[in-house]
Amino acid sequence: MSRALLAILPAVLIAGMSPASSQAPATQPPPFSTTKVDGTDNVYIFRYGGHQAMFVVTSRGVIATDPIGYQRPQAVTTYIDEIKKVTPQPIRYVIYSHHHYDHIAGGRPFKDLGARFVAHRRAREHLALMKAPDVVMPDEVVDGKKRITLGDTTLELIYVGRNHSDNSLVMRLPKERIIFAVDFIPIQTLNFRNMPDSWPLEWEQSLKRVLALDWERMIPGHPYAGGRLGTKQDVQNLLAHMQELSAEVKKAADQGKCWDAAMREIKLPKYESWGSYAQFLSGNIERYCTLWGRGS
Ligand SMILES: [Zn+2]
Repeated sequence: MSRALLAILPAVLIAGMSPASSQAPATQPPPFSTTKVDGTDNVYIFRYGGHQAMFVVTSRGVIATDPIGYQRPQAVTTYIDEIKKVTPQPIRYVIYSHHHYDHIAGGRPFKDLGARFVAHRRAREHLALMKAPDVVMPDEVVDGKKRITLGDTTLELIYVGRNHSDNSLVMRLPKERIIFAVDFIPIQTLNFRNMPDSWPLEWEQSLKRVLALDWERMIPGHPYAGGRLGTKQDVQNLLAHMQELSAEVKKAADQGKCWDAAMREIKLPKYESWGSYAQFLSGNIERYCTLWGRGS
């Protein structure tokens, strides 16, 4: 889902509709970008609009991740063109971070080039049930952990439990000490809307498992906090934030305030500066009210 896109869109629309659009601020991001991660020879971030994917160039081909082509096939062809600008190596794999369409739809052009698609087992189950439009079904599934070795590079796919979905994979590059984690670790940003498809308490456990892994920098699935990479401190901060919000809502639920009064009354001033605070706080409270006021 596109928190960051929501943030970018109004600026684009306003600039596009305004007669002064030629004077739009220089800070407006270009529609897409490809960035090599500092200090690596082979790890790239492809951003299109408000979504991001990691790709890794090895001595024996490319490992790509999320196609990010939902209702915009040009994002996928652009992604492939950008990879081809970096390397003549074939694209061997496409790994899905989780099954949500905004991250994984549109992969057909990768399939046509011969890429093998990998996802968590439950991602494939969801996709099969929903007969998702424009989503390439995974060829191969992961349960707990899988290691993909291609040429000189190893990428680990690690399931850390249910969080923002029940099939999120953390992708870890052990040598580079980089992870790619999508949607369940927003950086200095509130969780999306009313946290649809979520397991709030298991989510906390999954953040602790991420903290226990060996890594230094995190590539997120959306450009948060100015587009920077995440750190373990960011994961700690998100965990603390979720625990504090959860405790506040539990108190309100125990006083019979869920949903409406809690959604109106609870504020977390400490997090006012985080992205999407005004937009999503009441939705987040709604989700925790369902948990603590209803048990689900
Ligand atoms: Zn998602």
